[in-house]
Amino acid sequence: MAMRGEVVKLDRGFPLIRLEDGTQLRAEHAVSLVKGGGERAVVGDEVMVDVPEEHDKAIIVEILPRWRTFTRKDPTERALPQVLAANFDQVIVAQPINDVNLRRLERELVLAFETGAQVAVVLTKADLAANFQQMTETEQQVRALVGPEVPVLVMSAQDGASVEAVRALMEPDTMTILIGRSGVGKSSLVNLLAGSQLQQTQEVREADGKGRHTTVSRQIVPLPNGARVVDMPGVRGLGLWEAEEGLDAAFSDIAALAEQCRFRDCRHQNEPGCAVRAAVESGQLSPQRFASYQALVQETHALKQRREEARWMQKEQPPVRKRPHSAKRSNLKKRGGKR
Ligand code: GDP
Ligand code: ZN
Repeated sequence: MAMRGEVVKLDRGFPLIRLEDGTQLRAEHAVSLVKGGGERAVVGDEVMVDVPEEHDKAIIVEILPRWRTFTRKDPTERALPQVLAANFDQVIVAQPINDVNLRRLERELVLAFETGAQVAVVLTKADLAANFQQMTETEQQVRALVGPEVPVLVMSAQDGASVEAVRALMEPDTMTILIGRSGVGKSSLVNLLAGSQLQQTQEVREADGKGRHTTVSRQIVPLPNGARVVDMPGVRGLGLWEAEEGLDAAFSDIAALAEQCRFRDCRHQNEPGCAVRAAVESGQLSPQRFASYQALVQETHALKQRREEARWMQKEQPPVRKRPHSAKRSNLKKRGGKR
């Protein structure tokens, strides 16, 4: 008899599942689930597991439909999505205030907004800011970039009140995922929030090629107030997957300007009456931000094109004579219905 559970930890071993009665056990994927490149369970997934008596592990027989995912382009494949976490309510993007990378922040925000979750930004290591002026300037820069809807908090691991303010973002019965490059202080923050050393530093570590080390375990950590948080370490490549909504949300200033362009499908290149380029020329929109937007748009277009080409190639193999239009349509319908 299959039981319902949740994937609460992914590391080098088999996924750790927590059953509804609180029992935790390791589980492997049923062969039928993963054959043919099928989906694998990620942190936050609701799954059905079989627990055979004669077996030391449970078996994941089904991954229940995800209502939200954090998805990037698979860094090892040409044009495939890779889901990194599922079924969360909030994404917190962390950057160190003494070394903010605005271009990376823009990309992280696109990915965060694309999930449809609540988004917040935490600027870490306030104690390392050169001085008060540098700190407030950076904070203002980030606020201007994320817009008025997104909370921006400045914190330091050494300042308990600032940690409390981050904790207040995490409401009971919600799950937050924490993204940001390695070393920004995510696991320190999770430890402080949890009030214990759950994320041991001696955890499974993986060389990242630069001599530094990053934890590779992803784990749902329950907080005292009933909220839950997942540190997402080892997320080095943040290639965009589908990102149109994320782009519009992360670049809402440009999206608003684009409404004023003469052509509805203006690409803000050489079209006459382009309000976006006019804003760059008048100094209203920073050229760096516009360039960064263009690059991210280009990245998603290139990916879309590659996927369409791949789809064509698949359809054309083996090269048979054209089927009548109606037959093609019914075939498409059948495939659509399966999903
Ligand atoms: P992660 O890779 O994002 O999980 O980052 P860690 O939590 O492992 O932190 C990386 C390093 O930054 C560690 O040496 C931490 O002790 C240090 N660190 C974390 N938070 C702070 C902070 O607020 N201030 C200072 N000065 N160092 C911090
Ligand atoms: Zn335009």
